[in-house]
Amino acid sequence: MDEKRDVLHNELRKEFEESKMAFNSLQELNVQLRELNRKLEESERMKSHFISNIRNEIVNPFASIIGLALHIQTCDVNQLDTIKRMASMIYSEAFSLDFQLKNIFAAAEIEAGEIKLSYMKVSLPEIILSVVESYASEAAKRSIKVEHLAVTASQEAISDPDKLKLIVSNLLNNCIKYSSDGSSVRITSAIADGVIAITVTDSGIGISEEDQPHIFDRFKRLNTDINTQNSGYGLGLTVTKAIVEALSGSISLSSNKGVGSTFKVEIPEAMLFGGMDDFNADTNEIIFDNNGQTF
Ligand code: ADP
Repeated sequence: MDEKRDVLHNELRKEFEESKMAFNSLQELNVQLRELNRKLEESERMKSHFISNIRNEIVNPFASIIGLALHIQTCDVNQLDTIKRMASMIYSEAFSLDFQLKNIFAAAEIEAGEIKLSYMKVSLPEIILSVVESYASEAAKRSIKVEHLAVTASQEAISDPDKLKLIVSNLLNNCIKYSSDGSSVRITSAIADGVIAITVTDSGIGISEEDQPHIFDRFKRLNTDINTQNSGYGLGLTVTKAIVEALSGSISLSSNKGVGSTFKVEIPEAMLFGGMDDFNADTNEIIFDNNGQTF
């Protein structure tokens, strides 16, 4: 009799334990579902914020460009200074549009899983200089000095120049945007052990340790005074990170609030399929794309 009772008792205990475990895992699932729901709501909120932001970032500059171009047509030959001033405003609006659109198209390619890479021989100082020059008037307007330092003697590698330009543009754009007038931004470049390393450093507002893990999230903009005054929609660093990763590289950040930030990108130099013999070092021709096809 006792034996039967023990068996029944054990059976009940087992069933109780199993129900307890099932209840615990249901509770865990519930927490996960709530978190997923919160993330979806956050993503939805950020998306609608993005759409309204994009309206300001794209529609408004276009309206200015059209207005300025119309105005220039009414100027006469004696108004050269006015014409120059308006042409420079058109340049700055068009430049910012070009930058935003490049990021939006890159984000669309990333979303569709279709990042195309085109490799060729690149010179890091040439790439960096072309980006620095494109920001010259923005930096001059705010008396920000941008300098480039080539750390290693070797500065030539096989990589994708357009992607490198977009990476440097995004980092430089942010470093200028989040710096105060009259400060300096420094870019360094190095190639060592087959790895391209580029750093961009500012002495701007910096990013707190708590915020650092989130700045690469899509549409994420930190809640700073400077962000309410400045353009942007939290896509630049997401695109930068995705491109760096498509090039098999990594991006890291070291920053202190109120002191400044350094973004470091490390990208392995691309290896040629079939070895260096296929490569014509004197041309800037596309060598191969990411399907491994040589040209
Ligand atoms: P945004 O278009 O807002 O600049 P990003 O994706 O480029 O978007 O950057 C995300 C956020 O990270 C920015 O809104 C800003 O709050 C912060 N951030 C990025 N770069 C810097 C920097 N150099 N210094 C301080 N904060 C930065």
